[in-house]
Amino acid sequence: ATLTKEEILRIAHEEGVNFIRLMFTDLFGVVKNVEIPLSQLEKALSNQMMFDGSSIEGFTRIQESDMYLYPDLSTWLIFPWTPGEAKIARLICDVHNVDGTPFAGDPRSNLRRVLGEMKELGFARFNLGPEAEFFLFKLDENGLPTGELNDHGGYFDYAPLDLAENCRRDIVIELEKLGFEIEASHHEVAPGQHEIDFKYDDVLAACDKIQTFKLVVKSIARKHGLYATFMPKPIAGINGSGMHCNVSLFNEDGSNAFFDKEGDLQLSETAYHFMAGILKHVRNFTAVSNPTVNSYKRLTPGYEAPVYVAWSPSNRSPLVRVPASRGMGTRLEVRSVDPSANPYLALAAILASGLDGIKNKLTPPASVEENIFEMTQEELDAHSITALPGSLSEAVKLLEQDEVIKDALGAHIFEKFVEAKHAEYDEYRLAVHEWELKRYMSLL
Ligand code: GLN
Ligand code: MG
Ligand code: MG
Ligand code: MG
Repeated sequence: ATLTKEEILRIAHEEGVNFIRLMFTDLFGVVKNVEIPLSQLEKALSNQMMFDGSSIEGFTRIQESDMYLYPDLSTWLIFPWTPGEAKIARLICDVHNVDGTPFAGDPRSNLRRVLGEMKELGFARFNLGPEAEFFLFKLDENGLPTGELNDHGGYFDYAPLDLAENCRRDIVIELEKLGFEIEASHHEVAPGQHEIDFKYDDVLAACDKIQTFKLVVKSIARKHGLYATFMPKPIAGINGSGMHCNVSLFNEDGSNAFFDKEGDLQLSETAYHFMAGILKHVRNFTAVSNPTVNSYKRLTPGYEAPVYVAWSPSNRSPLVRVPASRGMGTRLEVRSVDPSANPYLALAAILASGLDGIKNKLTPPASVEENIFEMTQEELDAHSITALPGSLSEAVKLLEQDEVIKDALGAHIFEKFVEAKHAEYDEYRLAVHEWELKRYMSLL
């Protein structure tokens, strides 16, 4: 149960908390925080912590830069570690305007807004179970990441002298101390690649957990002399890192709205509509779920990442998969998302797409059981199978055409996001890359 303001104040004093980190996330998924001493906690809990939003990426213009942090009391957490002598707690915040309204550029408040639309349709909860993958690289003597992976293990491997095994276990221990329920931790397919899964939660809480997860993974890795990266494709020629999103809607009575004992594959009409909505909009929200230049180097054939828009109840790396569990565990797994995404934005786009499918009673195309990667263009066309955008530039152009996704982000975020991503792609386009020098310098 969520603590009250008074309870938090009492606990903070009793536990001897010295500092409180007020955290929020910028448009590009980067965690920001301002630290306040205990003396300021009461003020913060009364939503009176003001800050200058003009320097936060994608937030606002100089003229209207004053903003307030509204702590979400359910996120109160005392960190188990004490750097120096200080005991530190954190609160994750929503960002509000001076007049008290939610700030349209705050990804977390925006997700809350889309959840409001879901509730109007009669659903109680949207759940997310994320599977964030990451690579561990060795650090050099200056503490900078090298291009050298920490091990040569593969899927579910048990490696002797495995620095990563110990590192991964320490990450799990740390996460458990922070209240995460860890379901699995394993070596992934690629050398140096790992995955740690935690139990699904309400989407807002799960997105908060993703942000905390990334911080913990990076800091514990560093203690082991390693560098953790959530970059989608750090090394060409081997698998990249995805962040599969397992999603489900729950009804008011607590039942899973995707489950129907009598339905086809025991999935409800709602589940099929939701899936159809995702498949309809996924090409257009790829700029949000895969927002970096590097993301598109993962979405290529041969590396267990999806390339084509299709679904399947079986196991062949389709974009949307229906994992085997039913009943409360009935869910759709959206496999295109990668961990460079701002989770609040990506999940707002996924939810809005699914709700569009429900509102308009969309039906998904037939599932595809054949290996899509072996189909000819004619076969793909015959099944009406389209491909995800091949670059960030293509993805942003598709995003600009989709009113449902535009609404899911809201006009402010949409505008800032599109502008920033065009600029990011342009910067990449103008750079002369290593590959070009190798290929052309001596040849031409
Ligand atoms: N790394 C793969 C991806 O990019 C997923 C591999 C897996 O989890 N089986 O999505
Ligand atoms: Mg997994
Ligand atoms: Mg995986
Ligand atoms: Mg998965």
